[in-house]
Amino acid sequence: MHSARSNERYVMANHPCFSESAHHVSGRIHLPVAPECNVQCGYCVRKYDCVNESRPGVSSVVLSADEALSRAVAVCERVGTIAAIGIAGPGDPLANEATFETLGLIRRYQPMAIGCVSTNGLALPDRVADLVAAGVRSLTVTINAVMPETAAEIYLWVTGPGGERLRGIEAGRFLLDRQWTGLRMAVDAGLVVKVNSVFIPAVNDFELPAIAQLAAEYGAHKHNILPLIPQNKFRDTVPPTPAELHAMRAECGSYLSQMSHCKQCRADACGLLGEDKDMETEALFARMGEEYEEAVC
Ligand code: SF4
Ligand code: SF4
Repeated sequence: MHSARSNERYVMANHPCFSESAHHVSGRIHLPVAPECNVQCGYCVRKYDCVNESRPGVSSVVLSADEALSRAVAVCERVGTIAAIGIAGPGDPLANEATFETLGLIRRYQPMAIGCVSTNGLALPDRVADLVAAGVRSLTVTINAVMPETAAEIYLWVTGPGGERLRGIEAGRFLLDRQWTGLRMAVDAGLVVKVNSVFIPAVNDFELPAIAQLAAEYGAHKHNILPLIPQNKFRDTVPPTPAELHAMRAECGSYLSQMSHCKQCRADACGLLGEDKDMETEALFARMGEEYEEAVC
């Protein structure tokens, strides 16, 4: 296990999403092993990837842990720049046991890669220890509100402690408590943490600076404000303009360092940010290369 300080230095220097300069030279892979989700965000249509971290509109294949490992190994061999191996969906990684199985395999076979997970935070307080045990070094938690009333507008339902569906203010209160508690626990456990927030005009825009301020107080390392992609409940909501997004990042940046190079990648993205390679094609080429070498040897 790395010390919290050395982990922070390493991730902040090498993870393409935490480091503006590293993203030109270091890539990442998202392994799509997590189809289930435990909440329903008002801006998500479930047949697509988790839009808290990924771009909707392109369905991912779902891989088993073994399939994910073989693709990760093949892609790392072919694309020499992979620094981070993450799980970002297509649902919530912490709602899927395959996430932990995959992370365990990755840790064993690609120990130098930065293990990375993105979550809506609902299950986080129960799984921080499991994430650390599986070798995760960086984490993204999507937090869209500080007030339960605002969260109640954003989330259609949230899975409650007994598996029931909570709605309205009760759902908002429960989810926020889990997200903020989980964030503090993750920081205390030595993970490098980014908070993602979806900017929904006229719904949570006035709360984004408070999220940045509180996240900084809780020890988060980065804040990534994502413009709303209108769909589901918010399909008629006009997303923020680039100028509004820029101004919001500037305001929130006085509390917490802002990420401004997010590409809202697919849950099966791989390669450098903005220069995505197709994971299946890379894995196929890697297999063809092995077969070619076997044939000529
Ligand atoms: Fe969709 Fe992700 Fe929200 Fe789940 S957490 S509802 S997959 S955006
Ligand atoms: Fe990084 Fe954003 Fe892509 Fe996630 S969605 S891997 S934070 S660039």
